Amino acid sequence: MRSVFYTGRTRDIVFRKKQLQNLVRLIDENREAMCEALFKDLHKPKFESVMYETDFVKSDLMNCIYNLDKWTSLEKVSKNIPTMLDSAYLQPEPYGVVLILGAWNYPIQLTLCPLIGAIAAGNCAIIKPSEVSPATAELVEKLIPSYLDPECFKVVNGGVPETTALLDEKFDYILYTGSPAVGKIVYQAAAKHLTPVTLELGGKNPTYVDKKCDMRVAARRIAWGKWCNSGQICISPDYVLIEKNSQDAFVEEIKKAVSEFYGENPKESEDYCRMVNNRHLQRVKKLMENGKVIYGGEVDEESNYIAPTILVDLDPDHPAMQEEIFGPILVIQNINDLDDAVTYINEREKPLTLYAFGSDKKELEQFVHRTSSGSVVINDTLIHASLHSFPFGGVGQSGMGGYHGKYSFDTFSHKKPCLVKDQSLERINNLRYPPYNENKLW
Ligand code: NAD
Repeated sequence: MRSVFYTGRTRDIVFRKKQLQNLVRLIDENREAMCEALFKDLHKPKFESVMYETDFVKSDLMNCIYNLDKWTSLEKVSKNIPTMLDSAYLQPEPYGVVLILGAWNYPIQLTLCPLIGAIAAGNCAIIKPSEVSPATAELVEKLIPSYLDPECFKVVNGGVPETTALLDEKFDYILYTGSPAVGKIVYQAAAKHLTPVTLELGGKNPTYVDKKCDMRVAARRIAWGKWCNSGQICISPDYVLIEKNSQDAFVEEIKKAVSEFYGENPKESEDYCRMVNNRHLQRVKKLMENGKVIYGGEVDEESNYIAPTILVDLDPDHPAMQEEIFGPILVIQNINDLDDAVTYINEREKPLTLYAFGSDKKELEQFVHRTSSGSVVINDTLIHASLHSFPFGGVGQSGMGGYHGKYSFDTFSHKKPCLVKDQSLERINNLRYPPYNENKLW
């Protein structure tokens, strides 16, 4: 792949556009097959597969194709006296051969969206989908070579041994999506070759609910964000911080929202996902142990089902308050007021996203200024990920770097400063050459 990269094939803008258009075709011609694979892996409803996987990618693609000429053009920069007569600009250049390691919860989106950036920036790329969603991984492996140049873009399937073997190779950039624990392994492997990385990690996303709040609206938006994909979303609300006096009203509204969305028995709902496998079911089931379940709690191992569940009154050192939940449990923790919530959040690792609900937007903006997180959303959940103009990524424990829209192009591009002079006016340069004297200083 490296030798193919050096032929310059992927640098050609016409080639890049063609590959991106082929990716649009791949989605248009295989939407059904992708939905079926996602249903097999996660019981993902078709609506969610189209909205947050296939057509999420398509929307990013269309935006990229539309803007590619602008993004790839050189960027003139301001000049100083010694370079006044020269041409000074930033030229985006591809890194070379890049590695994209995907996670299983959005196995189409999390492999193809980074790929858009890699292609747009002119790189060759290897994609490693997660082995945990095998039907989708197999489909991606089958489709990519039929639509993209197989010498420039390859899919490697497999698990830990294959990922480890890939990480032994020297790549020019790595974008990894997954857990902070494996993120550290990837970062260490990249360090051996001084390979730059983007790490899209996870963590616990705190969700503050103020007492001055339309509880119905807050509960519906939180319930949607929490139980979409059965909570297996890196930006899913993880725990709610709320004053004790407001808790009952909030819980009542959550129950109403869940039954409105999924019916009285979510297990029978066509719109409710399953845990991806038994290992993850056991992991989430364990998080319920020694916790007070006030809603849900039903587990059916046969069908990898865990009901929408609420846990309350947990000690801060309970595993459900220590680990990322990444499943359909919403934890509720009590705080005294907004200040207390800010302190609570600041005492923990930096989240990928922080949510805050209430009627006083000015007051809630304190979360913007007094806490640190990958992103902040006031009065909604998840929806910020759909905005091409936002970089999607974390900070601290929740990751480094970001992508989506132009940020994907930037992620996979080195912005090379270029200074182009001619050979005239050499006399002016006498000023900088030795022998020096006081008169040459200005
Ligand atoms: P994971 O870290 O277990 O696996 C992700 C990838 O790493 C897979 O391709 C897997 O093969 C590989 N891998 C696993 N163990 C490895 C090892 N020991 N050595 C080398 N490679 C290894 O993550 P996951 O379970 O697939 O995903 C869940 C996590 O991902 C959650 O923490 C979630 O928040 C996070 N996530 C983040 C984002 C984001 O965009 N920030 C999106 C989705 C998921």
